[in-house]
Amino acid sequence: MIYLDSAASYPILPEVKTALIQAFETHFANSASSHLLGELALKSIDEVRAALAEKIGAYPSEIVFTSGATESNNIAFKSLLFGKKDKSKKHIVVSAIEHKCIFAICEYLKTCGFEITIVMPNAQGIIEAHSVEEAIRDDTALVSVMHVNNELGTVNPIAEIGAICYVKGVLFHSDAAQSLCKTEIDVDDMNIDIMSFSAHKIGGPKGIGAVYIRDLRKRELQPVIHGAGQEQGLRGGTVAAPQIVGFGTAISIFSNYYQVFKEKGIRSYLLKSLQRSDVAYTVNGDDKALPHVVSLSLPNTNVSVLVSDNEHRFCLAQGSACSSREIEASHVLTAVGLDREAANSTFRISFTNEITYSDIDELVFAIKRAAI
Ligand SMILES: *Cc1c(COP(=O)(O)O)cnc(C)c1O
Repeated sequence: MIYLDSAASYPILPEVKTALIQAFETHFANSASSHLLGELALKSIDEVRAALAEKIGAYPSEIVFTSGATESNNIAFKSLLFGKKDKSKKHIVVSAIEHKCIFAICEYLKTCGFEITIVMPNAQGIIEAHSVEEAIRDDTALVSVMHVNNELGTVNPIAEIGAICYVKGVLFHSDAAQSLCKTEIDVDDMNIDIMSFSAHKIGGPKGIGAVYIRDLRKRELQPVIHGAGQEQGLRGGTVAAPQIVGFGTAISIFSNYYQVFKEKGIRSYLLKSLQRSDVAYTVNGDDKALPHVVSLSLPNTNVSVLVSDNEHRFCLAQGSACSSREIEASHVLTAVGLDREAANSTFRISFTNEITYSDIDELVFAIKRAAI
């Protein structure tokens, strides 16, 4: 089976698996307990906290472990907006190409009296800084624009948007589930106030992630899970030491593997092979997109044949993972101007670092065979 859906979830790295098994054996104690084993678990957790902080230019005290990017995004919106004493600002700006969970959070916040403005991308799928600037109002409390898009691989001008938010005094959140360990992140250079991360997008375990909150200790925050004071009172529940250790291993090695992957030039190899095989295609997004994902529209390909003929050979996502079992077109593809038909003949192909040229040859052969 050739796995082409790493943007939905990356297979667990062997080193992570080893670290997890070891941590499940050694870190069964509660990290809040004051005995030796509890303190050892706490030490391991705090090492990963420091490593993630270092990776993004933050302080360890600004990192909270969560169950993943969805929860981190919930914290970014709800804990910060509900925690503020001054509740007069009730306007939020989000981009049209965010992960689905952002829109679900916004729908909920609308019922709490918030107003939402959705910023459209340009035709290449980029959220331009001036579009964000135009959407900001005097009563804007929060701007949320993802770093790297999960369907297109496009990289948004986060530093530019952050600078605008800083000048306007608006909180800036960015979902970095697809960018951590794949491209540089510096929360100071980028003027980021809140950032979301997920372990399973970089070969770590599912069910663990983190949120960065600038000056966390000085903020008034509403807990998302009320509990016994864990994670600075923001997120109750016994801290998941083994999963965090696995996340830490992924953070420490994924970037190196990704670098090797980038040098293989798999994305451009795929596009050249399609050209050579006379397959009609367009790439959604721009040419500066990160190379682990490519959104391909194949107008002359019978997509259902391609999928049904190959379900035991390729794991392919039509649209995005979240919407692939639904009938509606992906909101990201609609936002970059694709109509329903074009969206239906579009695949998101996302690679693992181990993908080979011969895997790509097989894929191109399968696409060619499904020509209309
Ligand atoms: C996968 C993904 C999420 C969801 O992350 P979970 O850890 O599964 O909750 C959120 N945002 C983006 C951009 C993603 O790619």
